[in-house]
Amino acid sequence: MFSLETLFVPAWWLYLVAFGFGVIIGSFLNVYIYRFHTGKSLSGHSHCLSCAYPLKWYDLFPLLSYLFLRGRCRVCGCHITSRYFWVELATGLLFALTLTLTYDLLTIGLFWFMLAVLVVITVYDYYHYIIPDSLTLVLTCAVCLLSAYDYFIFQTDQSVMITNVLAALGGSGFFLFLWVLSKGKWLGFGDVKLAFPLGLVVGAKLVFSFVVLSFWIGAAVSLTIIGYEKMNRGKAHLHLVSTNLTMKSAVPFAPFLVASSLVVLFTHFNVLELFSSI
Ligand SMILES: [Zn+2]
Repeated sequence: MFSLETLFVPAWWLYLVAFGFGVIIGSFLNVYIYRFHTGKSLSGHSHCLSCAYPLKWYDLFPLLSYLFLRGRCRVCGCHITSRYFWVELATGLLFALTLTLTYDLLTIGLFWFMLAVLVVITVYDYYHYIIPDSLTLVLTCAVCLLSAYDYFIFQTDQSVMITNVLAALGGSGFFLFLWVLSKGKWLGFGDVKLAFPLGLVVGAKLVFSFVVLSFWIGAAVSLTIIGYEKMNRGKAHLHLVSTNLTMKSAVPFAPFLVASSLVVLFTHFNVLELFSSI
């Protein structure tokens, strides 16, 4: 076991390093997300999608290049999707936030791996309305490793582990019920599978909050989009309400599941406490 506390450096310095590392990983995730679907190799040279200008090292600086070029290609001036910027920023912030949970190096490593997979799942589901099974499987393995590490190194009680697994199955089972009830219209089967590792990582005490909050976030986002649509009737059409849906899933629900699990994980937000205080 190696803890960051043994380094004796100021906390803000560690957070900054974690953020920087996350931003760099985020830029790799962008390449991975793009090439995962197109089947291109990961080793190829990056180039502008419009004019094929091969990107130089100074065009590939995470976050900064996008800001400096104001989201446009240096040569042809075509628009570069802001997804690159947001994925890098989100990964950096999530990596830094992990240090609020633990200073144990192996736990941090497993968390970072898990968060990277979650970023890919979220973006992928948002664009393609499907969660690749391979990603859910990798995520589940990472979360199981995290639980096993807790059990063997931190001597977590066996009954706690069993309760966590049962609660995660319960959360996933609830989404399965909704999936059957709506015949796959409200959420996809990929969401049912994804709910298991997410439920396991938040733990038995917070699974209920994770499920409830995913609906609250979903409702808040949907209402915002409906409001936006009404204001801009006939104008720009948002991607999220696109009618071009596949049979896999009617709505990209994974972003709400992931957002909810992360809020619960980092803030320990408990819905039950909210009601007991009224
Ligand atoms: Zn270009």
